[in-house]
Amino acid sequence: SSSSSSSLMWFRKGLRVHDNPALERAARGSASVYPVFVIDPHYMKPDPAAFSPGSSRAGVNRIRFLLESLRDLDCSLRRIGSRLLVLKGEPSEVIIKCLKEWDVRKLCFEFDTEQYYQALDNKVKGFASAVGIEIFSPVTHTLFDPADIIKKNGGKAPLSYQSFIKLAGNPPWNESPLSTGPTSIPPVGDLGCCEVCDVPTLQELGYYDVEQEEEFPFQGGESVALRQLNEALSNKAWVAEFEKPKGDPTAFRKPATTVLSPYLKFGCLSSRYFYQRLQDLYKSAKKHSSPPVSLLGQLLWRDFFYTVAFDTRNFDQMKGNKICKQIPWNNDEALLVAWREGRTGYPWIDAIMTQLHRWGWMHHLARHCVACFLTRGDLFIHWEKGRDVFERLLIDSDWALNNGNWLWLSCSSFFYQYHRIYSPITFGKKYDPNGNYIRHFLPVLKEMPKEFIYEPWKAPLSVQKKAGCIIGKDYPEPVVCHDSASKECKRKLAEAYALNQRMNGLVTEEDLKKLR
Ligand code: FAD
Repeated sequence: SSSSSSSLMWFRKGLRVHDNPALERAARGSASVYPVFVIDPHYMKPDPAAFSPGSSRAGVNRIRFLLESLRDLDCSLRRIGSRLLVLKGEPSEVIIKCLKEWDVRKLCFEFDTEQYYQALDNKVKGFASAVGIEIFSPVTHTLFDPADIIKKNGGKAPLSYQSFIKLAGNPPWNESPLSTGPTSIPPVGDLGCCEVCDVPTLQELGYYDVEQEEEFPFQGGESVALRQLNEALSNKAWVAEFEKPKGDPTAFRKPATTVLSPYLKFGCLSSRYFYQRLQDLYKSAKKHSSPPVSLLGQLLWRDFFYTVAFDTRNFDQMKGNKICKQIPWNNDEALLVAWREGRTGYPWIDAIMTQLHRWGWMHHLARHCVACFLTRGDLFIHWEKGRDVFERLLIDSDWALNNGNWLWLSCSSFFYQYHRIYSPITFGKKYDPNGNYIRHFLPVLKEMPKEFIYEPWKAPLSVQKKAGCIIGKDYPEPVVCHDSASKECKRKLAEAYALNQRMNGLVTEEDLKKLR
């Protein structure tokens, strides 16, 4: 009977107890519940050949954030009579082995729209359904089920935010309050011969020589996420008036946005819970901002990109991606490395890239500036290259959002005003004329006078000497001249757009070669 049977709760994202229907279903009517997380060596194994500490797929800051999130989840599960079981190996093999060994009758896990998980889950679901195991896999990572939206739109994803909003309407779960989590769950059963361990430390994973950045400000886990959400929402006026393009991207001690993205990425925070809390707050506010600029509007951007990503074949590449303009990007390894390592000679760009390496989080507009600079603004390098660097280093690195935003910023999709280019000199200056952000992340420029902090190559040699920073020696010369580089970029984009138009998108590799 079902009351004497066991269930397996497979955690991947959704690293939380609140609003976790998969966990609640696993707990219901089972004699024992096995809460499992599988450490995938493919994702976690140190890669000494990578350009910075971490695995080939993730920088060490995100791996640390994940381990902290798992430790927090383990604590929460222990409070309600269970624990987190950590296993290592290729996830589908490990899960199938557990299902057999523990005689599981019910398998519960959050549905994942990412291609990587789709493939993985199909293997596991194939086995489970063949042997008659019940599967429960709810869509709880996003506000809406992307498949529903696509269906409502006649079988294809809406490609504009406004049409997405119109289709989406009120989410179906929004009628009653979401669960704050089960108060107890059935105990873990006999572990048999499955090799289970505690949440490992970075050292145990083989990261011997990495230390935590002294001032690293973000800690993983559901507890921190909920605390941070409460803190953000306690400033009611700030939330009610929130308008995205208005924030200060140079504010780093107290960022201008919520910094909830890494928690949403790993599901330490439920986006649905966030949404309900925002609606409650709006109800009691005299007036409030609206999508796309409001805070609730930001969550809808997230769902918008998830929906398009779910529906678009080859969403993460230019070739074979029907929503992506074909553009003859250059392939210049030296320029790419200069950008990646924060050595472009433009302090605004280099400071942002340094923040990426050290913190794994930057303000949205800061991301805009470096993404534009790499692609259509200055260096004319392929957005896929920049995407790769972000994908590895961001602590909120998210397949749908990262690719969607790179498509946007490179004017490959969604947004096409390629003549609007961010100046790497004047944009940051508007917010931070003294260059405090630059001085913090690029201490080599700490003593540079204010009038030269955004363009240090213009400082007379005597000034450079006094500031202890000789351009070309202590800090690089600009890798390109922004004025001429951005003009050239616009010309190439105009040409590529014209060709895309003529060919109705069917541009070949040969055509692109001719444009190069
Ligand atoms: P808030 O302004 O407080 O917004 C709340 C939440 O809304 C965010 O946590 C996020 O989940 C969502 N959101 C906000 N802006 C966007 C957006 N433009 N698109 C989709 N969702 C959004 N965000 C990621 O979470 N992961 C990524 O890998 C990622 N890559 C990006 C790459 C580029 C080139 C650019 C320009 C943006 C990228 N973003 C990404 C989107 C955005 O910059 C971040 O979500 C945001 O800055 C996170 O800070 P926050 O939590 O304080 O945002």
